[in-house]
Amino acid sequence: MSEKIERIKCLIIGSGPAGYTAAIYAARADMKPVMYTGMEPGGQLTTTTEVDNFPGYPEGIDGPTMMLQLQSQAERFGTEVRMGMVTSVEFSEQHGGIHKAVVDNETTIEAETVIISTGATAKYLGLPSEQRLRGGGVSACAVCDGFFYKGQEVAIVGGGDTAAEEGTYLANICKKVTMLVRKGEMRASKAMQHRVENTPNLEVKYFTEIDEVLGEQVVEGIRMVNNQTGEKEEIEVTGLFIAIGHKPNTDIFKGQLDMDDTGYIITKGKSTKTNKPGVFASGDVQDKEYRQAVTAAGTGCMAALDAERYLASVESKEEVEA
Ligand code: NDP
Repeated sequence: MSEKIERIKCLIIGSGPAGYTAAIYAARADMKPVMYTGMEPGGQLTTTTEVDNFPGYPEGIDGPTMMLQLQSQAERFGTEVRMGMVTSVEFSEQHGGIHKAVVDNETTIEAETVIISTGATAKYLGLPSEQRLRGGGVSACAVCDGFFYKGQEVAIVGGGDTAAEEGTYLANICKKVTMLVRKGEMRASKAMQHRVENTPNLEVKYFTEIDEVLGEQVVEGIRMVNNQTGEKEEIEVTGLFIAIGHKPNTDIFKGQLDMDDTGYIITKGKSTKTNKPGVFASGDVQDKEYRQAVTAAGTGCMAALDAERYLASVESKEEVEA
């Protein structure tokens, strides 16, 4: 049961690039945002090493440093960044209504606006050798890390649109890409499958799974297993990309916000508005397609602007068009 109650203008849930960018804009707009960081302060980027594709860092920057800089920037304008996990929410249906969020099962925050930026978590296979070599050649983001394997041989696991897109992306950079699909067919759209088939240095192995990732400190190869025959085969690769889907971190919002079948929050048109007035969603929690730090930051900015306009409309007692 929660004991303490606090009333604020803007609550930001989650501390990745979307959350911090929302915080920078909301703080500069004098909304005095309070951010709860969640279990992984800084979000997915804190598990990456070098970030080379965020504009403004010509030499690249490591993920954790970038997130600390974003935090300082948000705090400079008055964002209050707090460690803590939002454990339940109760969103109002009313324009101008008050939304409730319980933090760590003990503090209740009453907020006029809420910006959700809880992100998504990449799925992994769960093999101990895969987990040990995360950051040492095992990655869940080809667009982020593919460049480090330029001219080398890599493998990718998955048969959906992400694997197909990332596989062809990697084939442009790398000498050879081996794609492991556990069934006898890919789940990806026909158009994406054609792209895969027409990429000469991309070899698809059907009915194939990873038995073990080889290497002590860094990936040196993989042992594959054919799940029909049990036959095993080893190949040398320096990178292994896992593209078997993401899980959006939306469990606590289920039943309150409109979501798609996978649990991504649905936002209205080009805005960050959810189906609840005053509740906005930004970053990977509402985007299964682009999933980049810079696109997350962009939607974080949009969420703060949407929240600011919403508050203005409440103050002037004008009903904005939903
Ligand atoms: P999907 O869930 O569509 O596909 C996941 C793939 O990974 C499937 O081939 C699945 O195999 C495989 N897989 C799952 N678990 C394992 C495992 N443990 N071992 C081996 N293989 C596994 O995820 P995506 O990320 O590809 O796509 C998510 C959504 O985003 C989809 O709706 C997709 O269409 C969309 N998307 C669209 C894009 C675009 O339009 N440009 C780009 C990227 C994504 P199986 O089929 O056997 O279950």
